[in-house]
Amino acid sequence: MDYKQCRHCKETKELQQFNLNKSSRDGHQKYCKECNKYLNRRNKERKASKEGRVMLPYKSKKYSTVSDEELLQIIKDFFNEFKRAPTTCDFDNNDKYPHFKTYYRHFVYYKPDTLVSSWNDILSLAGVSPLDYRDFWSAWQYLVEISASILEGDCLFQYCGFGLDFKPDIYIPLKHKVIDAATSNYACKHKVKQYKKATAKGASVEYWCLNKNNRPGLNLPNLKYVFADEIILKLSELGYHKLCYDIKNLHLVYKDFNDTYKDHKKDYIIKKLKEFHLKNGRVPFTRDFLGNPDYPSSSAITHLFGTFNNALIASELTINTFANLPFDEKIAKDDLMNLINKLGRLPKWRELRPPNTTFTQKVYYKYWGSIENCITAIGLDYTHLKNSSIDLRVNSRLDSIIEFKTLYNRMPVISEFGAKNALPSYHWVCNNFGTYENLIIHLENLIDTNSNI
Ligand SMILES: [Zn+2]
Repeated sequence: MDYKQCRHCKETKELQQFNLNKSSRDGHQKYCKECNKYLNRRNKERKASKEGRVMLPYKSKKYSTVSDEELLQIIKDFFNEFKRAPTTCDFDNNDKYPHFKTYYRHFVYYKPDTLVSSWNDILSLAGVSPLDYRDFWSAWQYLVEISASILEGDCLFQYCGFGLDFKPDIYIPLKHKVIDAATSNYACKHKVKQYKKATAKGASVEYWCLNKNNRPGLNLPNLKYVFADEIILKLSELGYHKLCYDIKNLHLVYKDFNDTYKDHKKDYIIKKLKEFHLKNGRVPFTRDFLGNPDYPSSSAITHLFGTFNNALIASELTINTFANLPFDEKIAKDDLMNLINKLGRLPKWRELRPPNTTFTQKVYYKYWGSIENCITAIGLDYTHLKNSSIDLRVNSRLDSIIEFKTLYNRMPVISEFGAKNALPSYHWVCNNFGTYENLIIHLENLIDTNSNI
């Protein structure tokens, strides 16, 4: 048995009482485990008092000596009690259970050769089948849709279209409000992106969450988190007890909603198809629903019904026997001309489609072969248009660099280019200006001429 003297308490102890340290000569640290713990804590407290923080008293960890078997037994007990697999949310800062990170420490970290890498893997080690998140999420989505139409009035749903580039889960036109269903108030890039799109359209945003995390979600203006408890309270006041029960016990009943949700979507689409028929006095074509914010997108329809005609049959409408619009050169040319005037630039190939133009890019391609030929056919100068739209794009990117300069009062350095600072990439700079110096000279000239005006 080897012994070693601790440099702090000066006691001689067994080598086992020292933590490992590969870089030292005997492979162990110079302070014993207890002193090490004490010194670490003291340093943290000193640092905290320097920064004006107060550290909470030390709490010994309840599960520091728990064995692998005991941990798995806790999962089994949870399953037997609640009849469902626990999620990481259940084991997050909950005094009744070990933290889910304890599980990761035992089964995943420090064990590079193990096949266990996720929470679901840990669950299957305990012999518990994990939640099917796909079904679980869509069941929650369904319940939010039903609750929102009860509590908020007329709703448009994601499968209804609502613009070309933006499909929130639920949109309420009367309140100009967007509702997104989420399993919890976690903050992620996707949520921020949805929020930005909604606020760009001037809408307020609500995230309806099933669970509440210990960490607060995004803190942004015009964003509100609504939790399941609040929804249940409002619904029970109105007497929707079945719905309240379903939300409360979603973990148990989520499998029951698969078909209900599908039928709900189908009913909604059938309602919209009939609405179109009544309003326009004819059966809709797929092209009527391309980028049409008031109606479901044709892809949503074919996804649910298999084909567009199946949806028409389900809505008790007659099928269109001839779907193609006869080609009319004048309409095609006029549309293109109007689009160019509207955009003030060369349209992108993919922008040639309803509702921008009557005919799709396919038709334009069939008759003229390329966008260049189309532009020449309506008597415009293609090269001139192309160059001016390139200039337009370059200038808009230069504006972002000038914005940076006014904000920080200096030019960005090479490493600062890229999306993280909302600047064009350095690759783009080299492509358009050759070198960084050329760009700076160009910008300085530009700013000079602007200030002279
Ligand atoms: Zn010591």
